[in-house]
Amino acid sequence: MTDNIYEYKDEKNWFVGKWQGFNTLAGLGQVSNEAYLRLNHDLASLLDSDKVDSKDNQNWRPNGYDVTVIKKSSDFRLIAFVVDMIAQETGRPLKVKQHQGAVLVTEKERLLLVHLPEAGVKLDDFFGNSGAEKLGDTILIATRNEGKTKEFRKMFEKLGIKVENLNDYPDLPEVAETGMTFEENARLKAETISEITGKMVLSDDSGLKVDVLGGLPGVWSARFSGPDATDAKNNAKLLHELAMVFELKDRSAQFHTTLVVAAPGKESLVVEADWPGYIATEPRGDNGFGYDPLFLVGETGRTAAQLSAQEKNEISHRGQAVKKLMEVFPAWQQEH
Ligand code: IMP
Repeated sequence: MTDNIYEYKDEKNWFVGKWQGFNTLAGLGQVSNEAYLRLNHDLASLLDSDKVDSKDNQNWRPNGYDVTVIKKSSDFRLIAFVVDMIAQETGRPLKVKQHQGAVLVTEKERLLLVHLPEAGVKLDDFFGNSGAEKLGDTILIATRNEGKTKEFRKMFEKLGIKVENLNDYPDLPEVAETGMTFEENARLKAETISEITGKMVLSDDSGLKVDVLGGLPGVWSARFSGPDATDAKNNAKLLHELAMVFELKDRSAQFHTTLVVAAPGKESLVVEADWPGYIATEPRGDNGFGYDPLFLVGETGRTAAQLSAQEKNEISHRGQAVKKLMEVFPAWQQEH
């Protein structure tokens, strides 16, 4: 218990408070008791857990505010006053914000209390989207690549899900791809970013697996030729590695994609797909990226770099994985 007396006063609000253990809020004047009871019920919930925690502790003593309201025009002012008292007395980093007419109390990254005006708040105003059914229906794609994002956006918008990417979150740290498998890398990225942001996050990890090289370059596809790798250097290295493999059938390979969707408190969803083909003996075609000019698609005799973007998306490892994801995603999303 402290002897501190708190006071807030402006033209339209006047509150006096003391810290003495009862969590009471009483009004003088025109405001109905019911309104105070509702407010007090909300505010007292901020302290309940405090009391339960400390009851086990020998030093437990009652703590709580005792506030008299002499004049009030704004719930926000009064909540801010009481929360400020609690913060000062307990040292908790409580903050008060206003959002579309509601008053929110937060502690670090946690939302603890939403105090609504008596008439409530329109859902669309509060969540800033088109209705309650859309609540939480945003997916963050763990990439800064707008081309990749566009492909995912096309698929997810059919399910009414909004798509964002890491360019919307410039302050997030880079997640190093330190895994030994595509799944480890994709999980690492999706689960780490989901933990930091509290959002549903999708990440992908792709690469080329060449059978005669025991699955290499695999998870090292992007940096196969070393730290200063480029697509041209990677392709040159791949041709060099296969220089003594003469028969096309022995140059079999697959492009692989693993997709992971992570959300707080949920087991992640994992899907994967392979796109089979062979490694050509020289590059051909101008489209695509990475190993596309060397990747002969199935038995077609054409390289992936000779396909249009649309043709490639229809059949590629990434296209197939996204299609699989769309089949299983709605059921996964319903799971709790
Ligand atoms: P990411 O995981 O999608 O960034 O892919 C990693 C690396 O695998 C890329 O830098 C490319 O070298 C290779 N790769 C993945 N997908 C493709 C593709 O569709 N065509 C060519 N190379 C690819």
